[in-house]
Amino acid sequence: APQTGSPLLQNLNPEQLAAVTLPAGNALILAGAGSGKTRVLTTRIAWLLQTGQVSSGGILAVTFTNKAAKEMMTRLSAMLPVNVRGMWIGTFHGLCNRFLRAHWKLAGLPSTFQILDTQDQLSAIKRLMKQFNVDDERFPAKQTQWFIAGAKEDGLRPRDVEVRSEDDRKKVELYQLYEEQCQREGVVDFGELMLRSYELLRDNDPVREHYQRRFRHILIDEFQDTNRLQYAWIKMLSGATVEGTFRPGGNSVVAVGDDDQSIYAFRGARVGNMADFVREFDVQQQIKLEQNYRSYSNILDSANALIGHNTKRLGKNLRTEQGPGEPVRVYESTSDFAEAQWMVEEMRQLVRDGYDRSEMAVLYRSNAQSRVIETALFNASVPYRVYGGLRFFERAEIKHALAYLRLLENKDDDTSFLRVVNFPPRGIGARSIELLQDAARARGQSLHDAVGALPGKAGSNLSAFVAKIDVLREQTQGISLKEIIELVLDHSGLVEHYKADREGADRLENLDELVNAAESFVTQEGFGRDAIALPVDELRQSAASQGIDPSRPLLDIPLADLAPDADTGETLSPLAAFLTHAALESGDNQAKAGQDAVQLMTVHAAKGLEFDCVFITGMEEGLFPHENSMSDRDSLEEERRLMYVAITRARKRLYLSHSQTRMLHGQTRYNLRSRFFEELPEGALKWLTPKQQGFGQYGGSAGAGRAGGGGSGSRYGSGSGYGSGSGYGGGYGGGSRAPETYGSGPVPVQKAAPSHGLRISQQVFHSKFGEGTVMALEGSGDDARAQIKFSRHGIKWLALSVAKLTPV
Ligand code: ATP
Ligand code: MG
Repeated sequence: APQTGSPLLQNLNPEQLAAVTLPAGNALILAGAGSGKTRVLTTRIAWLLQTGQVSSGGILAVTFTNKAAKEMMTRLSAMLPVNVRGMWIGTFHGLCNRFLRAHWKLAGLPSTFQILDTQDQLSAIKRLMKQFNVDDERFPAKQTQWFIAGAKEDGLRPRDVEVRSEDDRKKVELYQLYEEQCQREGVVDFGELMLRSYELLRDNDPVREHYQRRFRHILIDEFQDTNRLQYAWIKMLSGATVEGTFRPGGNSVVAVGDDDQSIYAFRGARVGNMADFVREFDVQQQIKLEQNYRSYSNILDSANALIGHNTKRLGKNLRTEQGPGEPVRVYESTSDFAEAQWMVEEMRQLVRDGYDRSEMAVLYRSNAQSRVIETALFNASVPYRVYGGLRFFERAEIKHALAYLRLLENKDDDTSFLRVVNFPPRGIGARSIELLQDAARARGQSLHDAVGALPGKAGSNLSAFVAKIDVLREQTQGISLKEIIELVLDHSGLVEHYKADREGADRLENLDELVNAAESFVTQEGFGRDAIALPVDELRQSAASQGIDPSRPLLDIPLADLAPDADTGETLSPLAAFLTHAALESGDNQAKAGQDAVQLMTVHAAKGLEFDCVFITGMEEGLFPHENSMSDRDSLEEERRLMYVAITRARKRLYLSHSQTRMLHGQTRYNLRSRFFEELPEGALKWLTPKQQGFGQYGGSAGAGRAGGGGSGSRYGSGSGYGSGSGYGGGYGGGSRAPETYGSGPVPVQKAAPSHGLRISQQVFHSKFGEGTVMALEGSGDDARAQIKFSRHGIKWLALSVAKLTPV
């Protein structure tokens, strides 16, 4: 029976309390944003432990990001004295990595296997395609990568993929070759971590039974974004079904999720897993949480109204007791640059109002949008930190340093070998490398091992490189991680190389930062086989319990002494643990710890997080909703869910901004205001700049917005790429925008009979841009314009009175 008196259970509403104290069994908690799902999950773990229903080793909890896992561990250790290190809390990838580290032999991997991030994976695929002379026009490497990742997410090996065309056959062949290459080199990609673990559980009875006996309670956050393979993995671990039939008395699986926040369909997520779960796990307990504790009602009403426009929903309500709060502020700027400037000003005011910078987040739909914002923040000396984007561990100089380190751990890692064999340059040409690759292939060896086979000067340069690596490996035995990295930076020539480079200062700083990252990995974040954070005091305790002098710096203590592996006796070297961490961590070491910095990230990366103040930028057609997602209903619904996620990150203040012009991918774009504005409740909004009429600003029939005469703000003036003097030169004529001439309510989209005869999704031909598809139509008569997605030139808005379009 729930011990309602426990302090753990205070501050929960009745539904939350019910969810936290559910009896063993499978359950689904379906609830909207900010209703306490994650909090319930964490509290349930604490409650299970406190009431002695399970030991800390018997819990498996899956979170969506490393950050969330750390957060959960921190909260748990605050709630009760528990050894979080022993607990399996992490992301799918992190947990699978941990599992494979423990069972590498059974999984058919070398003990030092390393992880390819998406970048490494792409270069491995490119290399393979070159080696086998695959036409990369016909089979772009990115597409091959996509194909392989997609197959793995569905749990398919090459032999399982259905082949329907000649192209399919080729792709499957590449998949097969890629697998062989990875196996030879001792590396695994993200998808492989998952698939290998799954297969091991499936095929090895004792291992499966061991883990099934062990994980009595399995808890999964953000369940709506699990893919097929992850679902199958959970099923396997839970022992919920035996040959397809439900087996009562198995482990308890509690899944929490929100169908309205399913935003990873493009990466194989399957919202249908929720319904499957209810059926296949015979879920008796379904709990809804309907009270939102995060946001004021203006924010929440906006989110609810918006998501109400989706048709595919399981349906649930959200309310708040917090009162309306401030209105949602909307701002229109003339350029992306001006948008960023305005934001900087607004942030200054927020600081004066007493908000912390770390409580301000800037969200955008695409990474490419961050550059302008970063520049503005940088110029204004506002500290900021970027999540996602080019992550610290993905920068070129860091990848170079890591490649050397990886070669120390695993000489057969050909990807790393190729990355640094001639970096810094040491006179090894492309021809020598080709010869080496041929020799390696002929002898079935790694590049490292095949070097001896090469004669002449090419051979001796390569031998010198290999000797350098081998000597470094010798030298790094028995020294601390920090010393290893310093030694490698020095002896690889990287530091010298960047010192000689006039623009190398930043890179040198980053290399220094790598040393810091290693240090904090051991001391602050801790380290382990699985690269899941270990609080430093845990490490100290562990050290003390092994009789190690507590005053010794942790960095100097070999990991094997510090944290002997509880399961198998295997431990990773600190270096290997650090490399794993580098590959898995969505980490950012940009702002120094403790600095009060504004947070920049894509909407995807913001899932599960919350901030006092949120800026959602680039609210424009083609950007948000994204141009690739505007043509079909399902993708548009996913964009809307993404917008729902974005809005619901805000606690107190929400800003939505859009810009008349924007530089993106080297082109000036003239975007229309996002359709999502028309889906928000007018009463919750405050327009900081006058609201232009109608959907996308130009759809209104009044024409007032176009009254001005060709002023400086002209959106469709010359130079924009589709004919000068087009019919609507005066869009933003200087000061001609008199706010009072615009009605305040949303103006319906004009549906006048088109005279141009085009319709949506029609195929057309343009003399300059070639073939394309009509995506949208607006206006009439001389003002009629069409948005066309050209197969070669991307999306453009064309004035139909000027553009020569012929139906095809
Ligand atoms: P998301 O869908 O965005 O992941 P969530 O459902 O996981 O949201 P949480 O992050 O767990 O929601 O909770 C949102 C906020 O509300 C947190 O700050 C949390 O501490 C707070 N909260 C949740 N439940 C309560 C409660 N009963 N009393 C007070 N605050 C609460
Ligand atoms: Mg959550």
